[in-house]
Amino acid sequence: MLQDSYRRTVNVANSKGGHSLEFSQHVVDVVESDVVVVGGGPAGICAAVEAARNGADVVLVEQYGYLGGMATAGLVGPFMTSFSADGSEQVVMGIFEEIVQRMIKMDGAIHPRGLPAGSPHSGFFVEGHHNVTPFDPEAFKLVAFQLMEETGVRLCLHSFFVAPLVENGVVGGVVIVGKSGFQVIKGKVVVDCTGDADVAAAAGVGFEMGRSDGKMQPMTMFFRVYNVDSQKVYEYVEANPEDEGFQSFMEIARKKGEFPIETGLVGVYETHRKGEWRVNTSRMHDLDGTSVKDLTKGEVDGRHQVFAIFKFLRKYIPGFENAQLMDTAAHVGVRETRHIHGDYTLTVEDLVETKPFADAVGMYAYPVDIHDPSGRGHILRSIEGGIAYELPYRIMLPVGVENLIVSGRSVSATHEAAAAIRVMPCVMALGQAAGAAAAIASANDVSPRQIDVRQLQERLIANGARLPDRFQG
Ligand SMILES: Cc1cc2nc3c(=O)[nH]c(=O)nc-3n(C[C@H](O)[C@H](O)[C@H](O)COP(=O)(O)OP(=O)(O)OC[C@H]3O[C@@H](n4cnc5c(N)ncnc54)[C@H](O)[C@@H]3O)c2cc1C
Repeated sequence: MLQDSYRRTVNVANSKGGHSLEFSQHVVDVVESDVVVVGGGPAGICAAVEAARNGADVVLVEQYGYLGGMATAGLVGPFMTSFSADGSEQVVMGIFEEIVQRMIKMDGAIHPRGLPAGSPHSGFFVEGHHNVTPFDPEAFKLVAFQLMEETGVRLCLHSFFVAPLVENGVVGGVVIVGKSGFQVIKGKVVVDCTGDADVAAAAGVGFEMGRSDGKMQPMTMFFRVYNVDSQKVYEYVEANPEDEGFQSFMEIARKKGEFPIETGLVGVYETHRKGEWRVNTSRMHDLDGTSVKDLTKGEVDGRHQVFAIFKFLRKYIPGFENAQLMDTAAHVGVRETRHIHGDYTLTVEDLVETKPFADAVGMYAYPVDIHDPSGRGHILRSIEGGIAYELPYRIMLPVGVENLIVSGRSVSATHEAAAAIRVMPCVMALGQAAGAAAAIASANDVSPRQIDVRQLQERLIANGARLPDRFQG
């Protein structure tokens, strides 16, 4: 039944000048909830589950027909480390660990505890690559749905975010569109887990794009291959430890015009199934993941690169001679877009010096990991002392807007700091914290900025999340 009308003014600019176009659209449904989570990637899944477990009525909006974001649609994996910098203890627990345990029961993952740096699951890389979690994207999709069913999260799949409902700087829900037409999902708190801060940007929150010159980390089209002779790969790497990332083959092929990819390393990661490998090697530079034009170019160029890389692997890399192409990602991998302006902006110094925060809601230890936005370089910078850095709650509170939390990849952090905290175990810890905060704010009818942070920390600990020891009580 048609209930309401959604009205919008669009400013259209072209070479002949600009003009405004107003369109109005009937809204087919208005749904009420406590917490609306937009984006069902690793952060959004954890935010929705945690908010529901803390008593909130939750709606989760996702553009695809399944959850997981980059972990499923992007075929990204493994989960990078969930352990301390020295590998001695696990620092991301909570819903992350629960998901891993559930996938293990389905033969869909290997627990990170026993996996050393330099293993085939780490692409044979060492720095920052200890205790990774190889997993099956199909297992992740099912576990994510099971969690939604068990916690009563109302799923709204195949639905794209269109606009926030904002009045006097207070967000009260979102407009979404899908096959049914336009819908309004009202919520006391909205959690933006789109990875690109789509809701925050549309609500007028300020942000930075990538680093200070606006350049962002390159996109990558992941793909998987099977029928690899893994034993032969291991033997080559063991006999040639200096040939990190199979650079020698890459250089030979590049000279012959058989490796047209701007990267310094060949990234191949064995999955939880022997003989099956993920390939993280294509690089599409100077593209903006919030631009339809650039996303389109990334998808097209990415698939061209996949076939060039596949041919290269079969011709040059020992063990890949009979590899078969298994699949390519449904969505090109976007490493970086918007970093919102938040109440606190995390810096690289905060990470490497392991600065303590009174409002810490999680810990992490992956190094700063920057794939050069314009070339083949790669920067890795690890923490200098301490076992892990701390993640302050304020990086998720967008300046100038109430009742909105931004979690996941687009929290308030510099380009360098974001390059460390963007990986999946970390965004899952951030997502869980965002969900608990949203539920507390909604239950108390206050903005997330006004909640008692100590209560938030206690809830997270009670629900299995790992916070710095001084909060554990
Ligand atoms: C090439 C590449 C390699 C990487 N390698 C690793 C790795 O090896 N290990 C690791 O741990 N991490 C890795 N990462 C990082 C990690 O995958 C991401 O940073 C992480 O997935 C971010 O999680 P998120 O939930 O914030 O966003 P996403 O995973 O991007 O999820 C966002 C979700 O929101 C949905 N969405 C977005 N916009 C809208 C909208 N407007 N309306 C409705 N739904 C929307 C999307 O469909 C998606 O489901 C890599 C990333 C890339 C791109």
